[in-house]
Amino acid sequence: MPSAGEIEARLFDLAPGEGAMEWDNVGLLVGDPERPVERVLVALDITEAVADEAIAKGCELIVAHHPVMNCRWLPVQSIRDDTPQGHLLCKLLRHGICAICMHTNLDVAPGGVNDALAAALGLEDPGPLCENGLGRVGTLPAPMSLPEFAKHVCRALGCNGVRYADVGKPVYRVAVGGGACGEFEKDAAAAGCDTYVTADLSYHQFLDARAVNLIDAGHFPTEDPVCLRLVEYLQSQFPGLSIQKSASHREVIHYYVEGE
Ligand SMILES: [Zn+2]
Repeated sequence: MPSAGEIEARLFDLAPGEGAMEWDNVGLLVGDPERPVERVLVALDITEAVADEAIAKGCELIVAHHPVMNCRWLPVQSIRDDTPQGHLLCKLLRHGICAICMHTNLDVAPGGVNDALAAALGLEDPGPLCENGLGRVGTLPAPMSLPEFAKHVCRALGCNGVRYADVGKPVYRVAVGGGACGEFEKDAAAAGCDTYVTADLSYHQFLDARAVNLIDAGHFPTEDPVCLRLVEYLQSQFPGLSIQKSASHREVIHYYVEGE
């Protein structure tokens, strides 16, 4: 039976810690590295529901993408049961559940978030979008119209909807940036792309779109494909482990469309 620390080391083989941005927090963030592990739950985020699912399924370890504590958007100064994040961390600790988070190091890693996204969209010959290794650029087997491609993205990623801006180009050379990667739109333009698929874009970014069609497919849908990759990777490394993707974690954003 491998320990949580051994599983962490194998995950760092896939996505080395040096690949993480300096503001990030990756690796085994909660629990005992010596803890023997038999059952693993993989999820994009460690939410309260994911923690409850891990408890119900007898998992000793949760492997997640987003850090459960102390990264840029989630500073944690205390672990108190009367705060939402503290309550979650206390719950993990009380049940002896370890948490490993592989974040921006998994974004840049070959076989990580962006390769999983490019593969889900059927992009051919994907290569890095940015100098730091983030994002991917590839081509579709054949050009399609933007509305057709928007439908393809929805179906491929299981989105409830997408928001998009049309700059009047058909879709063929596509850049992807899983999660909030709007700042790399200029890299997509510089790479000669006609379309950029990412998440968390602002009104002003849509308003100012000129060089590339912009598609905001949502944070969860653009990153969730990596979870199955993590399940497959861990299963190949530790055939004796019981590893499953969370059944409780899904897209939380819904779209109401007038007239439907
Ligand atoms: Zn993310």
